[in-house]
Amino acid sequence: MIEIRTSKRVEIIDITSEVQKEVDKSGVKDGIAVVYTQHTTTAIIINENESGLKEDIVFVLDKLIPRGAGYMHDEIDNNADSHLRAIFLGNSVVVPITNGKLDLGTWQRIMFVELDGPRTRRVIVKVIGG
Ligand code: ZN
Repeated sequence: MIEIRTSKRVEIIDITSEVQKEVDKSGVKDGIAVVYTQHTTTAIIINENESGLKEDIVFVLDKLIPRGAGYMHDEIDNNADSHLRAIFLGNSVVVPITNGKLDLGTWQRIMFVELDGPRTRRVIVKVIGG
């Protein structure tokens, strides 16, 4: 389990090294890692950790799913955009493990996406293999 303390309402955080630590602890050399967020207003993505791109992701989320656009859920919780964004991004990724290492592409990083922060969040890592 990885605990993440976020500092903004929307924030993208690289958790690749924390996930690798969980793989190291498991001792698995060949298998898969499932990285799963238990929250309904967060997401897990794989992409490039580049500051401009991260701003672009936030920009596109604002454009596609703006805050307070007349959603029903805002009547009880005022964070409908956060839930809707989470649904579109997805709440888990699966990464292959080869020779004990996350087998990511050159520019690929595992990133946690906070969509209704700041909060303390939990990400589960299940490592399967031998
Ligand atoms: Zn809500």
